Amino acid sequence: MADTPKFRISRVDDARGRPVRDLRISVTDRCNFRCPYCMPAEVFGEHYTFLPREEILTFEEIARLARVFVSLGVRKVRITGGEPLLRTDLVGLVTRLRAIDGIDDLTLTTNGLLLARHAEALARAGLDRVTVSLDSVDPDVFRALSGRNVELADVLAGVDAAAAAGLTPIKLNCVVQRGVNVDGIEALCERFRGTGHIVRFIEFMDVGTLNGWDLSKVVPAREILDLVNARFPIRPIEPGYRGEVARRYAYEDGGGEIGVIASVTAPFCGDCTRARLSTRGDLVTCLFANQDLNLRAALRAGEDDDALANLIARRWRGRDDRYSEERNARTPDVPAPRIEMFRIGG
Ligand code: SAM
Ligand code: SF4
Ligand code: SF4
Repeated sequence: MADTPKFRISRVDDARGRPVRDLRISVTDRCNFRCPYCMPAEVFGEHYTFLPREEILTFEEIARLARVFVSLGVRKVRITGGEPLLRTDLVGLVTRLRAIDGIDDLTLTTNGLLLARHAEALARAGLDRVTVSLDSVDPDVFRALSGRNVELADVLAGVDAAAAAGLTPIKLNCVVQRGVNVDGIEALCERFRGTGHIVRFIEFMDVGTLNGWDLSKVVPAREILDLVNARFPIRPIEPGYRGEVARRYAYEDGGGEIGVIASVTAPFCGDCTRARLSTRGDLVTCLFANQDLNLRAALRAGEDDDALANLIARRWRGRDDRYSEERNARTPDVPAPRIEMFRIGG
């Protein structure tokens, strides 16, 4: 039976007129990879302390908050992490979220290592699509970038299983870093052309404070497109919907499409309608935020749904974030304190 929110604050816009349309839910701060740009192994070693269980939102709490967000206008929900497939019984969360009336698009972002095992059950529970992060199709480069002794073949099997389960169209996210995986761009295109899957190249971002980001490691989207175009001619196509962050390009020969996400060289804050719910229940209004609002405390203090909706609405109305647009004006040598990516998902 559909779980329809019974309360409604009319559409909530932030200080820049942006509604809240998307919710990204981080279900765990743990990961089975150690991607250097996200959870570098030297920081997240054996002795790193992850969140204790009692600080992590339960599925019941997540579903309740998701329902409140839907009442405020959210239509797209993405499950992320850390690595979301490490969370026990993730299928149970998908079932709960699918039961909420008003979610038009329910998706999951994963590194894909455990996807072959779970794809069918996730699809049966009502997941619409998956995005798999894949920075290289060269097994050795892939292993180095994952920071763990893992097999590319397992991720590719996960992609195939997701396709067989109907979790399509599958998006494959590749973070491009100069001197690291630029040489593999063509191979990624080649591997997925004609499959219906969409490779999206993402500019390396200065999220968090631990990944040693600097501008010289960013490969601008323009350069990526030129590289692809030289091998497989492409042409721009219309966005799928207003506010789509990826710019889309189709192969001239009908081999499908690719995307680029130019978060550094062509920021899209003006259309940013994304809220993030961290593993421990903080509302984060920007990927680069250094502040959050703890919703878990309100939940566990027994606040009702209306009170939670009011709390979220008040925070959203005060939102003025446009970090990426402001980035270039800032002094690069003075990093601002920020929440790490693995706590809030991508
Ligand atoms: N573990 C899952 C995965 O890797 O797909 C989900 C969480 S991960 C934090 C979500 C996305 O953030 C991944 O696609 C990852 O490549 C991206 N990401 C992490 N750090 C990034 C950075 N510094 N710049 C750009 N993208 C980044
Ligand atoms: Fe894990 Fe995803 Fe971060 Fe890589 S990007 S360390 S897979 S959370
Ligand atoms: Fe949205 Fe913040 Fe990214 Fe701008 S920098 S697009 S406001 S998450």
